[in-house]
Amino acid sequence: MDIKLTNSLTRKKEVFVPQDEKRVTMYVCGPTVYSYAHIGNFRPPVVFDVLNRLLRSKYGEDAVVYASNFTDVDDKIIKVANETGEPISAITEKYSKAYIEDSTALNIKQPDFRPTATAHISDMIEMMEKLERKKYAYRTDSGLWFHVKSMDDYGKLSGRNLDDMVAGARVEVDDEKRDPADFALWKVAKPGEPEEAIWDSPWGRGRPGWHIECSAMISKVLGKTIDIHGGGIDLQFPHHENEIAQSECAHGETMANYWLHNGFLDIESEKMSKSIGNVKIPHDMLKDAHGEVLRLALLSAQYRQPLDWTQALLDQCKATLDRAYGALRRVWDFDAVRVEDYGVVVALCDDLNTPQALAELSRLAGEANRAADANDQKAMAQAKADILFAGDLLGLLQSTPEEWEKGDDGDDAARIDALVQARLDARAAKNWAEADRIRDELAAEGIEIMDNAGGSTWRRA
Ligand code: AMP
Ligand code: ZN
Repeated sequence: MDIKLTNSLTRKKEVFVPQDEKRVTMYVCGPTVYSYAHIGNFRPPVVFDVLNRLLRSKYGEDAVVYASNFTDVDDKIIKVANETGEPISAITEKYSKAYIEDSTALNIKQPDFRPTATAHISDMIEMMEKLERKKYAYRTDSGLWFHVKSMDDYGKLSGRNLDDMVAGARVEVDDEKRDPADFALWKVAKPGEPEEAIWDSPWGRGRPGWHIECSAMISKVLGKTIDIHGGGIDLQFPHHENEIAQSECAHGETMANYWLHNGFLDIESEKMSKSIGNVKIPHDMLKDAHGEVLRLALLSAQYRQPLDWTQALLDQCKATLDRAYGALRRVWDFDAVRVEDYGVVVALCDDLNTPQALAELSRLAGEANRAADANDQKAMAQAKADILFAGDLLGLLQSTPEEWEKGDDGDDAARIDALVQARLDARAAKNWAEADRIRDELAAEGIEIMDNAGGSTWRRA
């Protein structure tokens, strides 16, 4: 089945055609590792993890090369180093490690490559030399600058003209710039900046600008032209526009054929910000919430749409997973045979329609319950296979039902099992009052007991 993706470059939903089906390349801009990533930062890695899974299911596990970086040198990191007195490397190591731990809790498969900026300074310098030689870049006392007017189609990704860009005011201010929209490739170190953030270069001792990091790492790790480049919508301008400018002017080739941007996440209808005090950090949230609940919530809206993060959404996602695991539990003992349901694939192939895919997953949970009610063993085996297949594509239902119930409320599943057994024992002893009492006690907790020929099972209503 064709995978269709909305390409920000053409502003159209297009059939995805890779350059080489045996080597599909994808890059997603990663985090700047100077603090714990917030829940919004995890929307791109979760969304593109689903795409990574979908691509691998279509082209083969080894036919996809996915890279995502860590930005480990940057003004924000230097600021933290100055404030805390800690070495930059200690800060970036601490937060890279936490990021990988949190992504693992969110069932994000690690990318094939995780390049860091500081390990690619010489590649960046090489690329900047090329840009200077080709007259796309010029130097001043403060560093090396990319001259946007030297590129004919600068602005093609965001569709902005130069005046709009400058009006956006996110451009660096520097007296020596030829044009207000020109951006820094190399920044000469200012007095007092930590040695750890300073490298030698033909333009003086200093550090690279943010945009050149991705351009250089992409061409080094994946190649001059990649298939898919992703990131949050805030990166479309100037970051991605500038990545295109650098890479295409240096190499004379298209940088990426498909540009994908995810929409922003808000908290209870408000922008997430330190000043409002509503910044949600998975590193903390994961102490109370299961990673799959956070992941499901991140996938509850189609990736291009805004996502409103609310407590009600989290409660609903928890209930959805309880129900799915409850259904899976009832068919768990059957050998999953073959996969017939492609509903989830159809949904994901349509520009990663995750809300539709999740509706399909719920439908499959319903099928499992129906099969179990009817004690139809063939249908139960089928339902198990379908649910697990859908779960793998979405990166959900990666625990066993038992682990889920346990992680849920301690040894809840074992406790319920024991009560269900106690009721069976009471019935065997014809102690109907006790059997009914246990059934009512469980019903009060929302747990339904189902009797069948082989004994009793239970599920959460
Ligand atoms: P940063 O570390 O700020 O460069 O952000 C890392 C990634 O998170 C980028 O792809 C951003 O677009 C994305 N991002 C940041 N804030 C949000 C948000 N509130 N909602 C969705 N994505 C976000
Ligand atoms: Zn980038």
